[in-house]
Amino acid sequence: MKTSTAFDLTGHGLTVAEVHRNLPPSSLYEHAIRFEKDASIADNGALVAYSGVKTGRSPKDKRVVERPESKNDIWWGSVNIPFDERTFQINRQRALDYLNTRPRLYCFVGFAGWDPKYRIKVRVICSRPYHALFMHTMLIRPTKDELSKFGTPDFVIINAGAFPANRLTSGMGSTTSIDLSLEDKQLIILGTEYAGEMKKGVFTVANYFAPKRGLLSMHCSATADKKTGASSLLFGLSGTGKTTLSADPKRHLIGDDEHIWTDDGIFNIEGGCYAKAINLTSESEPDIFQALRFGAVLENVVLDVDRMVDYTNVSITQNTRGAYPIEFIQNAKIPCIAGHPTDVIFLTCDAFGVLPPVAALSPAHAMYHFMSGYTAKVAGTEMGVTEPQATFSPCFGGPFLVWHPSKYAALLAEKMRKHKARVWLVNTGWGGGGYGVGKRISLKNTRAIIDAIHSGALKTPKTERDPIFGFDVVTEVPGVPSEILRPRDSWTDKSAYDATAKKLAALFNKNFETYAAGASDEVKAAAPKA
Ligand code: ATP
Ligand code: MN
Repeated sequence: MKTSTAFDLTGHGLTVAEVHRNLPPSSLYEHAIRFEKDASIADNGALVAYSGVKTGRSPKDKRVVERPESKNDIWWGSVNIPFDERTFQINRQRALDYLNTRPRLYCFVGFAGWDPKYRIKVRVICSRPYHALFMHTMLIRPTKDELSKFGTPDFVIINAGAFPANRLTSGMGSTTSIDLSLEDKQLIILGTEYAGEMKKGVFTVANYFAPKRGLLSMHCSATADKKTGASSLLFGLSGTGKTTLSADPKRHLIGDDEHIWTDDGIFNIEGGCYAKAINLTSESEPDIFQALRFGAVLENVVLDVDRMVDYTNVSITQNTRGAYPIEFIQNAKIPCIAGHPTDVIFLTCDAFGVLPPVAALSPAHAMYHFMSGYTAKVAGTEMGVTEPQATFSPCFGGPFLVWHPSKYAALLAEKMRKHKARVWLVNTGWGGGGYGVGKRISLKNTRAIIDAIHSGALKTPKTERDPIFGFDVVTEVPGVPSEILRPRDSWTDKSAYDATAKKLAALFNKNFETYAAGASDEVKAAAPKA
């Protein structure tokens, strides 16, 4: 194979002669097919690759170097577990030693952040073509001119994920280690080949540097009004619908996962989207379905004999994913920059079936729910366990925060006040009963709710105050059957609803104990009455 753009990585301590920089997707396909042990090309044209043992992130294995420069900025604890400079260097050396044994390396340079004023130059170094193509889709791809003038990167990811960390190295909890140094501006990956670690590594770095400059980084998707250019944000934890609901033909897509709010408006950090592929159909999610084509990466999916993707097959993982450049969504706005948000929507997938499909939030309720960051997971169905598990993750993005959650909350409160954004809570989870009894609200109904928010149909909404949660439940939405909008009414067993609502309220209160000391009286008063 002809070696294209050779690139010198000796400055990093990498001596491999064959280095490929910013190969186009077609070349990366060729490399993947020749050198990956199990890559293939699906009928739809996407490159199918497998991440091995790890098919999701490993948050317990993330470490952040404790250094005097940033020590007082960081929210230390289970999200940001400190380790020392020396151990970081040992792990980096291990990663470099492994990469130096490889016959060829891939390097991709691109930008994080569409606003040129704030963008970060990122370099990714890896040994798998799959990882290079993944970051080609997820970062903002430089033009030829930008590439020739790229210069020194602001942040470097060294991915040696196929090689394990040494368990005997101090502070290592397993053979997986994801090591961040904010001072060296490097991320080292050992012992996991899940590509999402690189993407969320970039987001973590943005979450450190944005607030330092007075900007708010946010775990949300964003769309914009085609006429006014004003934006709308969809916050939410994994699986709540950020990506699905932002692919909306009536609006411009700005981004599906990571944004920054500045004094000028908002911009996307990424150049691509990373959609869940489980049960994907062209009928229910046409925009995403058609984006999975040549140039996209399909992760951990199973193909049938005709090389058709079986999106219902979860034998490798429930977390099958597709990564595609954002311009594969027809109505994406390039550059991915938009005006200030008119609406801020908190998505939650409440498997208890307690929260209403849509509620209007006061500023105090908004802060309370932003700090709480509630969603629920449906626990181990294979064991016959139907009890949902509540998850609370501050700012709807706890695992990626670097500063204390209150830092992001204060920035959000200030920006929402200044730009008079309305705030909504939208439950994309269960109704008519909890998991096992009721059912998940249809995508059609959730889309109708989001449409009503955007069209202004809910400008002066008909509401009823929820006696436990205290927010204003919206009771009329065009195109949505009214009987589903009041959750208690949608349950046949009212006493079961009351008991479950009380239980969920208690979980909220228990979780909020950690933040109560730093919260204002107004925000504390927005807590549910258990
Ligand atoms: P992540 O942070 O992991 O990327 P996400 O918030 O982007 O998560 P999505 O990828 O949008 O989550 O996943 C939502 C999933 O739930 C999709 O598989 C979608 O088809 C499904 N779904 C079912 N009903 C709804 C609904 N009413 N609203 C939104 N999504 C729904
Ligand atoms: Mn998503």
